Amino acid sequence: MKFKSETEFREVLRDYNVREGYELLLPKNENCRITAVCKNGCNWRIHASLIMGGPTFQIKTIKGEHTRAKSHVNKLANYKYLAKRIESIVRDNSDIKIDQLKNLITRKCAVEVSKWKIIRAKKTALQKIRGVDNLQYELLWDYCETVLQFNPNSKFVIRRKEDYDPPTFDKMYFSLQAMKNSLLSGCRPIIGLDGCFLKTVPGGQLLVAIGRDGNDNMIPIALAVVQVENRENWTWFLRELLDDIGGLGENMWTFISDIQKGLIEEGAY
Ligand SMILES: [Zn+2]
Repeated sequence: MKFKSETEFREVLRDYNVREGYELLLPKNENCRITAVCKNGCNWRIHASLIMGGPTFQIKTIKGEHTRAKSHVNKLANYKYLAKRIESIVRDNSDIKIDQLKNLITRKCAVEVSKWKIIRAKKTALQKIRGVDNLQYELLWDYCETVLQFNPNSKFVIRRKEDYDPPTFDKMYFSLQAMKNSLLSGCRPIIGLDGCFLKTVPGGQLLVAIGRDGNDNMIPIALAVVQVENRENWTWFLRELLDDIGGLGENMWTFISDIQKGLIEEGAY
């Protein structure tokens, strides 16, 4: 069997043995060759090495069998290993409880680990996800450039938080020319407004403006991503929107909303 790299081989070896419930010793542990044997003294052993030129790693021999009892306590299952295993779960649900994770790990990885190790693993996974997700924000400017290049007359507004170092994302307005055209050429002058939570680790709120066409289908007109749903952000979104589609004197619009937080101040209507 071949692996993309030494790192991949190590990961697979670790994962396989955690799942099977065996701990390993590495009498030969180098970048170009690895020999692993069973810590319990069974005659199982594996040897893999770099194929000439690299970076492919290949198993050269694997022989023997594990004859001793399996162990559900495994030092190979350290917090870094667990962090990797639970990363996708934590990405989907960053509020997941430690007990829930403990059950999942016992079931999926066949290993008993302490609560503290899971707490550390979850923290590590979250840090990695945040780091990766945060880097996406750095790409926003390039993304805007590209979208505008292929969708002329679209509108993108990105605002940074004031006086933040390093530069930090605050909010963003986004509307494609095609969305605007659909509204202006084929929709009734009615705009629905709504907001929802973004269930990503960085969080925030999505604000949307929706139109309805002659077939009663929904047409997205504009989107905004903001930190919180409040009066200031709704005002900002609506100003950008009206500036975009022509408002106040040029076109008359009717807005529909579900009493969004901050859109209609309490007691003001
Ligand atoms: Zn063994």
